[in-house]
Parts: sequence; C-alpha cells; structure tokens
Amino acid sequence: MPVGQYIVPRAFFAYGTITERTLFMHCHRAIKQKFLDIRLGIKMEVTFMTNLNNSAEIVGLTNSEAKLLQERYGKNNIVPEKKESFIRKVLEVLKEPMFLLLLVAATIYFILGEPRDGIIMLIFVVAVIGIDVVQEWKTDKTLKALRNLSAPHITVIRDGIESTINSEDLVPGDLMIISEGVKVPADGFIIKANDLCIDESSLTGESICIWKSVIANNNNYWKNNYCYAGTLVIQGRGIIKVEKIGVETEYGKIGKNVYDAKEEATPLQKQTSTLVKICAYIAAILFLLVVMITYVNLMDYSFKDRIIESILSAITLAMAMIPEEFPVILTVVLSMGAWRLAKKNSLVRKLPSVETLGAVSVLCVDKTGTITMNKMTVKDIWTIKNDIKDFSTIMGMACEVEAYDPMEQAIIEYCEKNDITKDILFSGTLIKEYSFTNKRKMMGHVWKKDGGIIVATKGSPEKIMALCDLDKELKKDISSKMKEMSLRGLRVIAVGKMVIEKEEEIPRNLEQCKLEFLGLVALQDPPRETVKEDIANCSRAGIRVVMITGDNGITASAIAKDVGIIGNDNIITGDIIDTLSDEELREKVKNTNIFSRVVPEHKMRIVKAFKENGEIVAMTGDGVNDAPALKKADIGIAMGKRGSEVAREAADLILLDDNFSTIVYTVKDGRRIYDNIKKAIGYVFAIHIPIAFSSLLAPLLGIGSKELLLLPIHVVLLELIIDPTCSIVLERQPAEDSIMEKKPRNPNEKILTSNLLIKSVIQGFVLFIAAFGIYYIYLIRNQSSVEVARSMAISIIMISNLLLVQVNNSNKEYAYKSFIKLRKDKVMWSVIIATMVAIVVILYTPISSLLKLAPLTIGNMILVLLISVSSIMWYEIVKFFKNR
Ligand code: ADP
Ligand code: MG
Repeated sequence: MPVGQYIVPRAFFAYGTITERTLFMHCHRAIKQKFLDIRLGIKMEVTFMTNLNNSAEIVGLTNSEAKLLQERYGKNNIVPEKKESFIRKVLEVLKEPMFLLLLVAATIYFILGEPRDGIIMLIFVVAVIGIDVVQEWKTDKTLKALRNLSAPHITVIRDGIESTINSEDLVPGDLMIISEGVKVPADGFIIKANDLCIDESSLTGESICIWKSVIANNNNYWKNNYCYAGTLVIQGRGIIKVEKIGVETEYGKIGKNVYDAKEEATPLQKQTSTLVKICAYIAAILFLLVVMITYVNLMDYSFKDRIIESILSAITLAMAMIPEEFPVILTVVLSMGAWRLAKKNSLVRKLPSVETLGAVSVLCVDKTGTITMNKMTVKDIWTIKNDIKDFSTIMGMACEVEAYDPMEQAIIEYCEKNDITKDILFSGTLIKEYSFTNKRKMMGHVWKKDGGIIVATKGSPEKIMALCDLDKELKKDISSKMKEMSLRGLRVIAVGKMVIEKEEEIPRNLEQCKLEFLGLVALQDPPRETVKEDIANCSRAGIRVVMITGDNGITASAIAKDVGIIGNDNIITGDIIDTLSDEELREKVKNTNIFSRVVPEHKMRIVKAFKENGEIVAMTGDGVNDAPALKKADIGIAMGKRGSEVAREAADLILLDDNFSTIVYTVKDGRRIYDNIKKAIGYVFAIHIPIAFSSLLAPLLGIGSKELLLLPIHVVLLELIIDPTCSIVLERQPAEDSIMEKKPRNPNEKILTSNLLIKSVIQGFVLFIAAFGIYYIYLIRNQSSVEVARSMAISIIMISNLLLVQVNNSNKEYAYKSFIKLRKDKVMWSVIIATMVAIVVILYTPISSLLKLAPLTIGNMILVLLISVSSIMWYEIVKFFKNR
C-alpha cells in the first residue's frame, strides 16, 4: 500500500458522526500511527471505502434468517455431535453382570418348567432395567443442560442489536463481536477492528500477537483481514462477518478437537468400581461354594434337579452380593449436585470438581469485585497546589472516554458532580494513549487542547511518583498522606501531568514522561455485605481465605481487617514474590493471607506453593493471564460476569454472580454432596448384608431350595426398592447443621472409611439377625408356613430400609431432625408411600401367591413393625452417647 494513502472502511463510523476523535478511536493501531503522522505534518489521503455498505453490514442477520441458515448449515460444532441411541443405553445396562445373572435365573426357571416364575422374573428384570435406563437418561439430560450452560458464548449482532448466544448457534453471515479474552468460535472476515491483536498459535504454532485489520496487506495463507476459529483475542475489539463454521473452519479441518473433553471417570468412580469388583470376586467364590454345598445337601434329588437347584441358590447369592448400585449412585448424586449448584449461580464445568469441592482447604480470591462490590466512589482528594479543579480535570482526562472500569466511572461521576462535564473533559483531541497494563499499573492520555498538548496520567502512587521530580520533603508528605488514606481501606491513585510544546516531543512511552505530581484521589469500594460472615464460616470450617490483589498492601490489609481475614498485617507483595525461591515461597504461604501488588503471573506461583504444601486450592481469576493459574488450581473459578472466555475455558467452575458468598456456598454444597455419597455407599453396604447372608446361610443350614428365605425374584424385588432409595432419597438429603464446623476432609481419604464400614456391617448384621431370625423361628415352628416366614422377613427388610435412611442421615443429629428437614419433600414421601403400598400389594393381593408370599395377620404385622424399629433405631442410642 502506498505510503500516504489509506483506505478506511465506512463500517468504522457506523455508530456515530465522523469526528476526528471517533475516527481516531476506532482505528487500527497502524492507521492510528498514520493519523499521528498526519497531525505531525506528513501528508496523507484518507479515502472512505464506500463499497462496504455500512448500515447493512452492522445490522447483521435477522433471527429468522439465522434460523434458516442454521437449518442449512447445521450447528457450529468443531467436533460433530454423537447421537446416543436408546437401544445402546439399554444394551449398556444389560451388559452389567447383575442383569446377566437375572437373565440366567429366568432362563433356569423356564428350563425347570416353571414358566410362571420365569415370567415374573422377567417382569422384574424389565422394571429394574427401566429404572436404570430412566436414571441414566435423566442424568444425561442434566449433564447436557449443564454443558450447554457453560458452553462458550459469543456476542452477535442480530436484528440490529447485540445479543449473546451459544457459539454453537453461529451461522455463516452472522456478525460477531470479539474482544480481549475471547476464543474465536468461527472463521470470518474482519469488518471492523480496534487495536485487534490475535494469538494464532493454535493454528500456526507461532505465538506472536497478529495485528488484524480490515484491509489485507499481504498475500500470506493466514490473512490479516480474516480471523480463525480456535485462536485467541489478546487485545482490542472487532466485528467479524462469519464465513465458515464447524468442521468447515481451518481449525475444524485440522481436526484438533479441543472441545472433545472426554468425560473421564472421577476419582470416586474409580474407587467404587474397585469396590464393586472386589464384591464381585467374593461373590464368585461364594457362588462356587454354595453350588457345592447345595449339591451335597440335596442327596435325594435327581442329578438334574440337584444341579439346577444348586445353581439357583448360588445365583440368588451372587445377585445379592453385587452392589451394582454404586456406579448409579455416583453419577446421579454428582450430576444432580452439579445441577442444583447451577441454580445457585455456580456452574460446574467438570464433574470431578464436585467431589474435590468438599476438600478445599485454601480459597484464594481476588479482592476487587469478589470480596468487594466493585462499586467505587471518590471519597477524598488531596492536591499539592490546593487546586482541586485542575486536579479533577487532569484526573478525568486520564480516563477512557467510554469508561467501563468502575473506578474510572466513579472519577467521571465525581468530575460531573463538580461541574466538570464530559464535554469539558474530552473537548480536546486524543492524540496518544499509554495503555494500562497489570505490570505498569498506570496509564495516560495525550490530549491536544486549546492549542497546547497535555499528558494526563494516573496510576499507582509509587509508579507515578517515580516519574516526578520531587524533593524529599514532598515525597514524605505524599507518602504519609497515601498511608493515611490507605489505612481507611481506600484505593489510592496518583495523578500527574506534563505539558508539551510540540507534537514531536511526545514521549514514546509513559515511562519516558517527566510528570508534575498533582495529588492523590482516594476511592472507596465497600466489601460485599455477606463477606464478613462468609469468611467467619470459612475459618470455622478450617478453610483459609487468601486475598489476592493488584492494589497496595495497606489498603488490602485494611479491607482484610474489615472482613475478618486473619493475619491481616502479614502481607507479601509481588516484588517480594519475585525475589523468593520456590521453597522460600512455600514457607511464606504457610502464614500469609494477603498478596498485594501482584500481577496475574504471580498467581501461578502462589497456587503451586500452596499445592506443594498439600493444600487443596480454589482460586478465582478473570483475565487472559489468569488461565494458567486457574488450570493449575484444584478448583479454578472463573468469573462469569467479567471473566474472559479463556478464563472460563480453563476453569472448573464458573461463578455467574462473581460473588464470594456463592463460592462459600459451593464449597459447602460440595461437602454435602460428598457426605451424601458416603451415606449412600454406607447404606448400600448395610442393606446388602441381610440379603447376602440370608442367601448364604439358608443353604448352609440345609434349608431346601423351595423354603429359602430369598428366591431370585425376592432379591430383584428388594433391588427395586433399594435402587431408588439410595439414588433419589439420599441424593436429596440437606446438609447436616454441623457441616461447616468440620475440617476439610483429607483428600486422600477413601470413600469407604473403616469407620463407615464397621458401622454399616454392624447395622447390616443386626438387621440380618432380626430378619433371618424371625424367618427361621417361623420356619422350624411350623414347616407349612414358609410363605408366612418369608413374608415376615421381607416386610422387616422393607420397613427397616426406610428407617435406615433416616437414621444414617447423620452420625450426630437424631433421625427425627433429619426427617423434619425433609418433611415437605414430595419425593421422600413418594418413596415412603410407595414402599408401604408395595408391602400391601405383595402381601394382600393375589400377587402374593405368585411371589410365593402370604398375607400376615395383624399380630404378625405389629411384630414386624416392632422388630424393624428396634433393629434399626438402636443407633439413635449410640448417637445419644456420642453426643454426650
Ligand atoms: P485489583 O487486583 O484490586 O483488581 P488492579 O490490578 O485492577 O487491582 O489494579 C492494581 C493497581 O493499578 C490499582 O491499585 C491502581 O493503583 C492501578 N490501577 C488500576 N486500574 C487503573 C486505572 N484504570 N487507571 C490507573 N491506575 C489504575
Ligand atoms: Mg481490577
């Protein structure tokens, strides 16, 4: 392109009148330089490119057009979506060893010439499969909805207005707006670019920032007026007209599927599948044992009958032994937990994080916006020359014209209140910007105004003071004033100015400016209302709250004191972190709760140090530079409101309301979910013991195969009740009152602790003795009433099952208390009522004879109730002694 001529597309100016300033503000950096060149006297022609009809360009598609286009081009998925078929789901359930056993049992019945038993068995099998498939389908739906919620978003212009949609729904022709931190979701032409710089390393392997503009300036394969899916916006803003989506994009062609986040088994899922395996092995051994014993016992039967009968008894045992509920419990409880959290503004992106949440021991949070409200107001001003008007004007001129930073908004608001309107502030021409970076911690604007040139700067006092020529006395004054303001918990910003004669003399960067120090402004950003209480809750729960901020240490310390962070006079600054070795930092973090003047890069080291000390760390972040630390943390938390797409993608959790309280709630709920899984596992263990041992002991005692306590149909019948109990009722249990008074759990702790195992085994055995004892007594007392004996035992197990859930709700709280907490829960009541109805149906209708059961007399029923209550409720007495 010839020097001196520049083509600027009309689209730049679609939003307003074309003044010199807007032209400047909306230009690509290269063009900006050219404009500066014009102002510096170099002649340059500006041609407006009129072939881009601006209004049509900026309005974008209509919603109905987008819909039609989506029908034609499909969804914007880099990896084509796999459809899970219903049949496959059923087949998956059928693959479980449990169902193989069930089918074998049913087949044997048919072989035995007892088709009626076989059919009943099959009906039960279908019912159990039905429950499982419905559960799986529900969890799948939940997980999918969650994924949708945390899916990448993009802002588009449709029907002429900006709206946010799932990136998946982009169609060719859409206008999308990209800005710092966005991961570009589709390929398209740049039709507007301000300072737009994109990292294309995911495609090209070169990690340099590529400046983008509307006009092509080379013939490379990777065009500079085009942007590509999968790349990352480092700086600036742009409007893109989407050309290609999904697999059509350059990124899609490569087939590098980042979105293909395979659901890996969570640590708990791995643990429980080991447990299931162990149980299965034991079942296999016992299976053989029972086959042999039954075979020996049935001396007077024919050979064929002996074989069949012994296999049948053994199958009953094997079915009773395999805790096939474990995997179901986990997926249901974890996914439902995540779903409940989503309703409370906390989006879990990765299921295993739900488990980890409960173990969090250190919570590293940003100060501004998370602990504080990020609503600033100017509280105090101190000027060297006592000229507040001049000070305020320079302070205002150092802000962005379209301020979005709450601090700058507060400054402008202050100026306007004192009759220095925006029109006055920004009446000149902005000819250069020194941009704010986390490292620089200051910024400046160069204005041409009333014939003169003024550099207006603001930033952290240390940094601004370094650019001023101050005598000792003044330095001391400024420092003491700054300290006084900071001690009040205010954020202190220094303002400086420089007057320049000629445009050639404008320094290249801010560090080269020689500033006149004007004064200090102090801003208040009050802590969020509930933060104090939340931090107190955290300390009670053994969770350390660590504050991370770019602000100065004294301000941070004052706020920390305000909200009750302990050790608030022990502060480490970013500069100190730079001088520390990894080991030294590891020592330091043991008792430091405030990190001030840090840049995002420091966060990575802080997380690492905590982790190496054995802590489980949750850390918040929002910027592009926070992503590595978020990945490194055990729980990376992205801010949903101000967080960048990159931070969201790196995070385990997205906080939709950026609120500290939500983090604490999430950790608490993580503990509840983990507790409930533990309770469910303990329950499954306990309830399987009476079933398994009854199946084992009956053959050992030489009880004939027709007189067994549990026939295969009965085992399936009980499974029908156990499954929903643990996955529905236990999943819904509210948190125990003391949940935030315990220390975080040891991350290496196994889900089935020895305590839990002992408790479950004892509970199971007591129930076994009660049920089997009654059955056996009835059986030997009167041989003909095997149906009654069996009915007694099965009713005891079914009623005890309901009680067991209530009792095991807590190791401390009494059962009636947990019951009251859920008294309005429809689901819990449905399970209770369904169990009652089931007992009535299987005992008192014609079905009872099909199931080889018999009606019980009122006297027997009362006995059943008494035995059930005493075989379970004894644990309440244990609680009583524990509590004392
Ligand atoms: P925090 O971690 O509290 O959000 P920041 O990184 O935003 O802190 O800011 C760190 C410091 O940089 C502030 O204390 C202030 O001195 C300076 N600073 C922040 N924003 C601006 C701004 N818009 N203009 C000038 N200085 C700023
Ligand atoms: Mg900030």
